[in-house]
Amino acid sequence: MKDLVIIGGGPGGYTAAIRARQLGMETVLIEKDRYGGTCLNRGCIPTKAYCQNAAVLRSIYNSKEFNIEVGHVSFDMAGARRRKDDVVTRLVSGVEKLLKDHGVERIKGRAEVIDKNTVVVYGQTIQARNLLIATGSIPVPPPFPVMNLEMVVNSDQLLDLDKVPQRLAIIGGGVIGLEFAGIFSAFGSQVTVLEYQPDLLPAMDLELGKRLRISMKKQKINVHTGVVVEQVEPAGNPWQVTATGKTGSIHVEADLVLSATGRKACTDGLNLDQLGIAVDDRGFIKADQHMATNIEGVYAIGDVTGNAGPCGRGRRGGGGGKYSRPKSSRTLPCHSRLRVYLTRDRQCGFE
Ligand SMILES: Cc1cc2nc3c(=O)[nH]c(=O)nc-3n(C[C@H](O)[C@H](O)[C@H](O)COP(=O)(O)OP(=O)(O)OC[C@H]3O[C@@H](n4cnc5c(N)ncnc54)[C@H](O)[C@@H]3O)c2cc1C
Repeated sequence: MKDLVIIGGGPGGYTAAIRARQLGMETVLIEKDRYGGTCLNRGCIPTKAYCQNAAVLRSIYNSKEFNIEVGHVSFDMAGARRRKDDVVTRLVSGVEKLLKDHGVERIKGRAEVIDKNTVVVYGQTIQARNLLIATGSIPVPPPFPVMNLEMVVNSDQLLDLDKVPQRLAIIGGGVIGLEFAGIFSAFGSQVTVLEYQPDLLPAMDLELGKRLRISMKKQKINVHTGVVVEQVEPAGNPWQVTATGKTGSIHVEADLVLSATGRKACTDGLNLDQLGIAVDDRGFIKADQHMATNIEGVYAIGDVTGNAGPCGRGRRGGGGGKYSRPKSSRTLPCHSRLRVYLTRDRQCGFE
């Protein structure tokens, strides 16, 4: 019997595994994909790699202001993607090395929870006194009718494009949607953002949303707030996004549509019902300030608890949890989240 089994090797899970080893716990970490989770593979790191491309491009476009004459400029999206993949691969290897150096037992595969002390991965049974669920979140499917799913991508798919779409419609004016708006606008797309709420960044500071709107206007990004997307349908060569707002219908032509309307907890195969683990009305696992769920010996951390946002929050929790949680960490998230996103939005060209 191990001390701890952790499902999910993202920032929540891998840091918890390392910390548990530092505290002398026999720890098993199960990951079905690449270590580093969303953050390293499909989130913070790849987007920041692209933000850097965007920042360089913007410097070039603004070079005249600094009396620098630049000749012909071309941008190779496939090359940028390869660079992004290299950055990700390097960081994933770093995490793997850290886990190995700390003696974390690693198992590759999709974990299924049998009971609170038993997890199965491809027929292999692991028993542990404590279970930590760190399975993160995944994009929700588009909440509007789509005639051709290839036309509508989520953030995972947008990160793997080899060509810059001429016209990109982004549905969702939250942090993810806006970050991609800045990136692809710098890459040369004509970007339109459609947001259901009256303001951008509805889940965050309203003042920030207003400032970003001004900044986006300067970048010639079209923004429509208070609109409901009705459907995405063919209209000749491009596709047409139809949305309705207070002033009637609007139609936006697009070669590609990003659906960035939110994320849901990744809990398939965890048998939450059978275990009696309490979830909130959106399906996120309820956990207290020690990451404890309502079932003794079962903990949950990071995005799977609905604590979406900075992966640093997952890491802070993972690094301490019940055993060494810094006292101040509960008061930090809002400010640190703002800082994280402000920093990256600046990189993407927003003031
Ligand atoms: C486009 C984008 C940009 C972002 N940018 C930022 C940013 O700039 N700053 C920031 O702070 N945050 C950012 N985030 C959020 C950040 O990525 C997440 O908050 C963070 O990754 C959450 O960590 P986690 O460990 O909870 O979950 P994840 O990182 O999602 O890790 C969960 C892991 O569990 C694995 N898993 C799931 N189910 C099973 C199973 N049954 N068996 C085995 N393994 C399983 C998954 O494969 C995954 O590797 C961004 C997110 C996105 C999508």
